[in-house]
Amino acid sequence: MLEKYEKAGEIASKVRNEAAKKIKAGVKVGDIVDFVETSIKDTGAGLSFPCNVSINQIAAHYTADPGDETLFCRGDIVKLDLGAEVDGYISDTAVTVIVEGENADNTDEDGNLINMPGRLDNGDVEVSEEEIELRQQIKEASSSALENAISIIRDGTTLNEIGEIVQKTIQDMGFMPIVNLSGHSLERNNLHAGLSIPNYPDGSDHKLQEGDHIAVEPFATNGIGEVNDLPNAYIYSYLRNRPLRQPDARKLLKDISVNNTYFPFSKRALIDKYPDLKSLNRAMRPLLVSRSIYPYSALKEKTDGMVAQTEHTLIVEKDSCEITTL
Ligand code: MN
Ligand code: MN
Repeated sequence: MLEKYEKAGEIASKVRNEAAKKIKAGVKVGDIVDFVETSIKDTGAGLSFPCNVSINQIAAHYTADPGDETLFCRGDIVKLDLGAEVDGYISDTAVTVIVEGENADNTDEDGNLINMPGRLDNGDVEVSEEEIELRQQIKEASSSALENAISIIRDGTTLNEIGEIVQKTIQDMGFMPIVNLSGHSLERNNLHAGLSIPNYPDGSDHKLQEGDHIAVEPFATNGIGEVNDLPNAYIYSYLRNRPLRQPDARKLLKDISVNNTYFPFSKRALIDKYPDLKSLNRAMRPLLVSRSIYPYSALKEKTDGMVAQTEHTLIVEKDSCEITTL
């Protein structure tokens, strides 16, 4: 079991490092997502969730749908969040990248603006050097918070202590932690297994125990420190079987329940079998209405602050912890 957790961690960490280097201005978000997911699957592992690539004020839960044309731009603060699964044993890790390079044209051959659902602007952005420096510091606040949290994690550490050190680290650097996003415990075939690892002192006296598997993920922002839902979802999870009238919806739900019983999925996981995106969207609607599947809305910082995230999966030990995604 421990070897499988370690293997899942190693795979995710290697793919994370490789993918982070490929994030440059003018590169498509969809190409990074494809690279991450193909690389994980090529090792024989599964995805613990679709690769998330969330830009600037978008904090989490964005992934590319099939055909997504969203481009990275110079100065973007990008959260790359991914995980592998080996026989149900999970890794979950994230890094923040400040995008370098030159912006690509944001218009198509007819001179029309390219639709970029992964950005809240249309890709026609000039980010000043001062602003890039600020974003570097936000990134630094998030990674230092994770480092400091890890330094106190051992058998007996309370959740409140973790939240305290995360908040203090981020605030000391002049930013805010995002209070309604948190880390979590992990179990076999269960990405969010009950415990929340807070990014602020939440008063919980729950003590971590040797052998616990957790993901710690401080989010830092120059905004107010809260996220709310954007209107669209790109990531879903299977909830339950329901009697559905429409044959295409019935078939889709069957496919989803067989292939995505435990882990969240995106439309990219379905596109080979359902190559027409419009028909796929139509077939998905009854599944959402009947609550057979759950949509995770993309999340945005409430006051449009810039957001950084850093995450590791770790196993609690008697006097410290083992990071599986280092
Ligand atoms: Mn994650
Ligand atoms: Mn996580």
